[in-house]
Amino acid sequence: MAQPKIYPSNDSSPASDFGLSPTEFTTLRTSATQAKALAYCPYSRFRVGATFLTSSSDFIEGANVENASYPVGTCAERVALAKAVVEGHTEGFRAVGVSTDISPPASPCGMCRQFMREFVPLECPIFMFDKDGNYVVLKLEQLLPMSFGPDQLPQPGEAGAQGAGL
Ligand SMILES: [Zn+2]
Repeated sequence: MAQPKIYPSNDSSPASDFGLSPTEFTTLRTSATQAKALAYCPYSRFRVGATFLTSSSDFIEGANVENASYPVGTCAERVALAKAVVEGHTEGFRAVGVSTDISPPASPCGMCRQFMREFVPLECPIFMFDKDGNYVVLKLEQLLPMSFGPDQLPQPGEAGAQGAGL
């Protein structure tokens, strides 16, 4: 895949393509950027902030939370999304913002892409901000092509893929 375009921080035009107002876009970036300050990352010292814009236009933030047992640590995206889910936001997310202290922008890890796939629409934009607020934006379906999601599984109570006999 070709390297995605990096938009300068003062260009909010891509946000309008995804139905975000300039104010919503600015708030998303400010929120994700400020959320980095919440990170607990004494081991990697790699701060990540994430914000989910919900269908009711709430901005829900999270940051990475590490652990002395390294694999137990949780990324900012999953912290923020789990927070949103337990607050009742399980569908219709309008945008995601992720912010780090590096440039070019970092993208969500594979585990977070799959975690988002459960709740976030495939066409939802993921804005990835660098240390200066410049950004790349891609839809979830571009970050996670041919994804496996809840629509591939039978609904509760339906027959499974092997039929009704099990
Ligand atoms: Zn992750």
